[in-house]
Amino acid sequence: PNTETVNFIEAIINKDNEEGTYGKRVHTRFPPEPNGYLHIGHAKSICLNFGLGESYKGLTNLRFDDTNPVKEDVEYVNSIEADVKWLGFDWDDRQYFASDYFDQMYEYAKVLIKKGRAYVDDQTPEEIKNTRGDFATPGTNSPYRDRSVEENLRLFEEMKEGKYKDGEKVLRAKIDMASPNIVMRDPVLYRILHADHHRTGSKWCIYPMYDYAHPVEDAIERITHSVCTLEFEVHRPLYNWVLEEWPDEEKPKQIEFARLNITNMVMSKRKLRQLVEKKLVSGWDDPRMPTISGLRRRGYTPESIRDFCQRIGVAKADSMVDIALLEFCIREDLKMKAPRQMAVIKPVKVVITNYPEGQTEMVTIENNPENEAMGTREVPFGREIYIEQDDFMEVPVKKFFRMTPGKEVRLKGAYIVMCNEVVKNEDGSIKEIHCTYDPESRSGSGCQRKVKGTLHWVEATTAVDMEIRLYDYLLKSDDEETADKDFLEQLNPDSLTICHGKGEPAFKTTKAGDHFQFLRQGYFVTDTDSTADHIVMNRIVGLRDSWAK
Ligand code: ATP
Ligand code: MG
Ligand code: MG
Repeated sequence: PNTETVNFIEAIINKDNEEGTYGKRVHTRFPPEPNGYLHIGHAKSICLNFGLGESYKGLTNLRFDDTNPVKEDVEYVNSIEADVKWLGFDWDDRQYFASDYFDQMYEYAKVLIKKGRAYVDDQTPEEIKNTRGDFATPGTNSPYRDRSVEENLRLFEEMKEGKYKDGEKVLRAKIDMASPNIVMRDPVLYRILHADHHRTGSKWCIYPMYDYAHPVEDAIERITHSVCTLEFEVHRPLYNWVLEEWPDEEKPKQIEFARLNITNMVMSKRKLRQLVEKKLVSGWDDPRMPTISGLRRRGYTPESIRDFCQRIGVAKADSMVDIALLEFCIREDLKMKAPRQMAVIKPVKVVITNYPEGQTEMVTIENNPENEAMGTREVPFGREIYIEQDDFMEVPVKKFFRMTPGKEVRLKGAYIVMCNEVVKNEDGSIKEIHCTYDPESRSGSGCQRKVKGTLHWVEATTAVDMEIRLYDYLLKSDDEETADKDFLEQLNPDSLTICHGKGEPAFKTTKAGDHFQFLRQGYFVTDTDSTADHIVMNRIVGLRDSWAK
């Protein structure tokens, strides 16, 4: 990457390359724990790690950090693979599972024991916690801290063999109970957990802790730059400590960057799982979810997410990104690509009383006025059409240039119509609106008459019924931090509105994943629930752009 725009991670890599720290090798990894679906925060990490691999002609591993058997599952492994691929990244044959290293991890733990750097502690988890001290008070040594190497080796093996119950013993690093960094106060390296693992089954009943497992995983894979989020900064001394006895000359380097936070979005697997389990959303891929599968179903494209990750960059300080930037990115991506078609979300019928009964004609409309290459299409027009309820006001407010009695508007690509009469139902609601059209005013006929408003419309006899799902933010608050305490109470009760709309005939053949701009309304995608008999569309985002460039 060129030197003017390098971020701080690239600066570190450039320096390593100059000094030959890793002989100019760049090898990164994306290490998800398969305990949930990936979210947009993970997308940032994916773009960063695979991006570094690509730009330095290096390598990037996809590694499942599956060292905690309780919450992990193959369902998550499969979804993670699909999501990384969908984002446009490829790990080739470099797919690894931390659980494949359990033997190596166990052997290396014995090396630490032999070096007098680890010991088996019989204290209860509670006692270990209570003797750690705090930022002002040093911790106290465990009474088991000075066991002999032989005894430690024997007990550790017995732990592995299943001689003890959960919580009865742990393996701890022997570092310094008075360290100013609490992470370094004899952290636990292994615990006993009689639980089946989704890959190793019942082979193991001791499992390594993250702080021990992660540096060993990186070292086994000969990772050079191990990028993680900022909360691991205080763990870095432990990361390096764990690898002090590692036989290789080259040791991976942990680099921390700020995690992505976005306004109005929950971004923690734990919270997202709650939403799924409490059935507050339809699943991990609910279009309101910030998961990659949710964003995909919502209609976000891989290009838009990669563009977003590029624009936010990498920083060393936590910050909150406005969700409007994400929305800006999908509008930018779809602007030139998505065909613009007419759909009425909340329809009201309009009868053009001077138009011949039983007759329709075709009018020609451009598929995307900003992209001429997309051509034109023929759209039927006739005596009865639908317009948007919001495009009509019986008693107009100031500057209302849409349909109102006694005024003219143009129907997009068709004619100018004059609104003459409102026909009501018994309950006072509007049954239909009566208009007359000016046959001389056909679009493209050279008619010079100008009217202020142009409305989208759908011809009634050929209209396609569509279920249209309008989404709003899942969180009322625009700040996940303030919503943190009782985030379930911050849920927006109106995050989904279902409408029964009408679309022009071009929608008839739509398939899941097709993108559109509904003229004057916003960007939409055909949902995975959609069938030929029951079309379902999701609103991705409205047209109005609140993102100041
Ligand atoms: P969560 O806290 O949401 O459960 P996690 O960090 O526990 O996420 P992992 O599966 O361990 O989830 O994450 C895999 C990688 O993605 C890690 O390197 C992690 O640092 C990174 N990552 C997770 N969340 C974010 C985020 N919001 N922004 C940037 N990177 C993230
Ligand atoms: Mg994690
Ligand atoms: Mg987590």
